[in-house]
Amino acid sequence: MTRRISIFGSTGSIGCNTVDLIARDREAYEIVALTGGRNFEKLARQALDLKPKIAVTAYPECYQDLKEALGGSGVEAAAGEDALCDAAQRPSDWTMSAIVGAAGLPPGLKALEQGATVALANKESLVTAGALVMATAKASGATLLPVDSEHSAIFQALVGEDIEAVERVIITASGGAFRDLPTEDLAHVSLADASSHPNWDMGQRITIDSASLFNKALELIETKEYFGIDTNRIEAVVHPESLVHALVGFKDGALMAHVGPPDMRHAIGYALHWPERRALPVERLDLASIGQLTFRAPDEERYPALRLARWVMEEGGLAGAVFNGAKERALDAFIDGRIAFLDMAAAVEDVIEKMSGDGLGKVAIGLDTVREADHIARQRVDAWIGNRSERG
Ligand code: NDP
Repeated sequence: MTRRISIFGSTGSIGCNTVDLIARDREAYEIVALTGGRNFEKLARQALDLKPKIAVTAYPECYQDLKEALGGSGVEAAAGEDALCDAAQRPSDWTMSAIVGAAGLPPGLKALEQGATVALANKESLVTAGALVMATAKASGATLLPVDSEHSAIFQALVGEDIEAVERVIITASGGAFRDLPTEDLAHVSLADASSHPNWDMGQRITIDSASLFNKALELIETKEYFGIDTNRIEAVVHPESLVHALVGFKDGALMAHVGPPDMRHAIGYALHWPERRALPVERLDLASIGQLTFRAPDEERYPALRLARWVMEEGGLAGAVFNGAKERALDAFIDGRIAFLDMAAAVEDVIEKMSGDGLGKVAIGLDTVREADHIARQRVDAWIGNRSERG
């Protein structure tokens, strides 16, 4: 029997890795929807190849080009956020949620409402609206499977275990592009340097977030939201080799580590075939040639993102939406060359300090309140950048 599959963010790094796995066993799948953003040419190529029922670009200005590229193929073209949500409501057995940023939340929620299995790469969904995402899945009976490598690793280490027996969870961080750079040099790093990861091949935004450790900050919050583990039992450790993805520590002192190559096709493939394990086209590690694995504590002074994540986890409620919205806006500004690398954390910290008295933790999480908090956080970052420019 063929499985119905939708891939949201199919033109991105996770999306292309998902397409790669699907294309290896094409007959087993019926593709319902593929979606992209500005790269309508890649979306059209994927659609002509995989023949989904519908291909959606997030941007209305790309609609005409997409439609023309798909002319005569029988694949429907659509554009805009509403079209993404409509596509997410089409019946599917397995949906990959791999749009980057908070934009992934609305279609992800729609897919969960259908009760399908959703493979969640879009960590921002859990960071901005964890309680809403988990409650939506529970209400519809949907299965939510983690795709982030650390969370897939924790999930796999917990198979057959009682969550009550878990004492702590440790997620690893490669340390990103600047892990060996002296702190004083961080102020002057370039966009190109920040966009190159030492171990993983990922989209530009998550690669820069890895260099600032904002990615690890998002993952700490994601761990709390997905697994329901207390903040003080979640740790991050720097592991430059990126081979151990996460460890789960149990009451009896045992630590279960998940070890594998830095290839997202493992976590994607695990979620695709879950609860089975099937052969995947990933490298098999030769431990003797690797020789040693190293670990060190992260420097929270050098990387404020980790400290800020702990505040978000303690505060709860809309704190994650504010944190993520501010981070996304600061990242936009760094990519556009309007602020320097270290300004990203400074801007986010300023926004959080100013909004920390607003009772964010007490506001109920709904799509509207999350959007509003996200919007305000982005405005505050713009104001921070404006004030700084005026000060010269
Ligand atoms: P990419 O930037 O490579 O791809 C993002 C995808 O989202 C593309 O299809 C892009 O379209 C689309 N997109 C961009 N903006 C919008 C928008 N406003 N609305 C709808 N779609 C949009 O990202 P990654 O694949 O690296 O990451 C995707 C998600 O997975 C992120 O949440 C990331 O944190 C997470 N993740 C990624 C990992 C990785 O290895 N890459 C590892 C673990 C988690 P287009 O390119 O056509 O503009």
